[in-house]
Amino acid sequence: MTQISDVLVVGGGQAGLAAGYHLRRLGVEFTVLDADTAPGGAWQHTWDSLRLFSPAAYSSLPGRIMPGRPGETYPDAGHVVDYLADYEKRYELPVQHGVRAQAVHRDGGRLRVETDAGDWSARAVVSATGTWSRPFLPAVPGRDIFTGRQLHTVAYRRPADFAGRRVVVVGGGNSGAQIAADLALAGIDLTWATQRPPRYLADDIDGRILFDVATARRRALDEGRADSGGVASLGDIVAVPPVRAARAAGLLAARPMFTRLTATGATWADGSHVEADTVIWCTGFRPALAHLAPLGLRGTRGHIPTEGTQAAGEPRLHLLGYGDWTGPASATLIGVGRAARDAARQIARLLST
Ligand code: FAD
Repeated sequence: MTQISDVLVVGGGQAGLAAGYHLRRLGVEFTVLDADTAPGGAWQHTWDSLRLFSPAAYSSLPGRIMPGRPGETYPDAGHVVDYLADYEKRYELPVQHGVRAQAVHRDGGRLRVETDAGDWSARAVVSATGTWSRPFLPAVPGRDIFTGRQLHTVAYRRPADFAGRRVVVVGGGNSGAQIAADLALAGIDLTWATQRPPRYLADDIDGRILFDVATARRRALDEGRADSGGVASLGDIVAVPPVRAARAAGLLAARPMFTRLTATGATWADGSHVEADTVIWCTGFRPALAHLAPLGLRGTRGHIPTEGTQAAGEPRLHLLGYGDWTGPASATLIGVGRAARDAARQIARLLST
C-alpha cells in the first residue's frame, strides 16, 4: 500500500531535521525517512576523537542553541548526536528511522518514492542524504595489488586499532589532518601523504569565520561581484587543538603524494619507498544521490543543477546540505538552517498553488 505525505524528506541528519523544523513552522505536513536506525546522521559513525571546528553555540540548528559542556570549547561527535536526538524529540519531528529511499519517480502531479519499506507518494521531496555513505577513493596505481589493509575515513575509529601497524594516511583535508594527528599522538608509525603541502588556517580561525566567509562569497557571486575564493582561499585544515598539538610536537610532517602502491607499501616519484600494513584514504566524499537517478537530473561532476536548493529540472525536488552548491555552508550545522528555511518557504508556496 502506498503511503501519502505532502512532503517527504529523505534523510534525517541535521539537514533533514532543519528542513522538518521549518516545514513545521509553516504548517506543512511532512514525513522524514532516515536510513539510520538511530538519530544523529553521520555523526554517529565518525571516529572517537573527532571534534567540531566551531564552539557549540556556533554549531546550532534553527530554534535551539547547542548547549556547551563545561571546560570544553569544541564539542565531540557524541555531543552532536545527543543534540540531534534531542532536537528530533523536542520538535516532535516525524522521523521514521531504518527506512532507506531507493528511487524517486515522477508520477503525474506527484513524486513516488520507493523505499525498502514500501512506496510513498508526495507532492514535494527534500533530499538530505549527505555524503557519508559515498566515500571517494582516487584511482591510484597499485591499489589493487597492495596486500595490506585499506580503509576510508568512514571506517576509522581509534588509534588503538592500529597498534604496532605502519600506517599511511592519504589526504590533506580536515579528515586527513585529524586522523594523522590522532595516530601520531598515540605513537603509531605514521606516513602522511598529501597532494600539496598542508595548508593550515590561522590558529584563530574556526567555523564561525568560515561561515561568514562562505556567506560573503555567495553574496558576492549572487550580486555579480568578483569571486573572493571563499573558504578555500584561507586554507584546507582547521587547526583544531589535537592538530595543533601534533604539529607543534613535529609529528605532522607531510610527504608529497606517492605515485603507486606496491604489494607491501608505497613508492614515490624519487624512488623512495615506505613499507606499510595499512593505508587510510582520507580522500573525501561524493553526494549520495543514487535514489534520484530515475529523475534524470544529473549534471556535471555528479551534481544536480540547482537554483538555491531547488533542482533546476524538477521544481518539486529540493537538495539540502550537500555543499555550497546547495546553499552557502549548507553542509555545516550552522549553515544548513538558512537553506532549509528557503527550501521550506518555496515548498509551502508550491503546495499552495
Ligand atoms: P548526514 O549527517 O550524512 O545525514 C544524512 C542522513 O541521511 C543519514 O542519517 C543517512 O542515514 C540518511 N540517508 C542517506 N541515504 C538515505 C536514503 N537513500 N534514504 C533514507 N535516508 C538516507 N560541520 C560542522 O558544522 N562542523 C564541523 O566541525 C564539521 N566537521 C566535520 C567533520 C567530518 C569528518 C565530516 C565528514 C564532516 C564535518 N562537517 C562539519 C560537515 C557536516 O556538518 C557533516 O557532514 C554532516 O553530517 C552533514 O549533515 P547532513 O544532514 O547533510 O548529512
